Amino acid sequence: MTKQLKGSCLCGAIEFQVEDNFDYVGNCHCSECRKFTGSDYSSAGGIASDKFNFVKGENAVSFYKKSENTELAFCKTCGSSLFSIKSDSGRYNIRLGALDDAPSQKPGFHIYVGSKAAWLEINDDLKQFEAHPEKL
Ligand SMILES: [Zn+2]
Ligand SMILES: [Zn+2]
Repeated sequence: MTKQLKGSCLCGAIEFQVEDNFDYVGNCHCSECRKFTGSDYSSAGGIASDKFNFVKGENAVSFYKKSENTELAFCKTCGSSLFSIKSDSGRYNIRLGALDDAPSQKPGFHIYVGSKAAWLEINDDLKQFEAHPEKL
């Protein structure tokens, strides 16, 4: 059985687990991820929705539909950003910052570098994409 990673929100109302077997892990620099997470960029791992389960607090989750194909999930009490739901691919993009366990995989690329934060310097050798590469 694949190892499970535990995750939770800041106030602890929500706990979830997800398989330690992401289809991809990367950093998104788009302005919407920056707004939603309040951070320079968002690190997230994509995985099929059936490999994700709530342990508790599912009814404490709020959703914001940011576009036709994307809903953002967050804690309605503490506001922690947890994951996005991609209806076109059937995947969840789990925010790595919400994880309590360290995933085996590390971010492997940067996307939307064309709209990255002005103050941020990317100092690694990971692959950079100006926007979204088609097949992620
Ligand atoms: Zn919370
Ligand atoms: Zn983004």
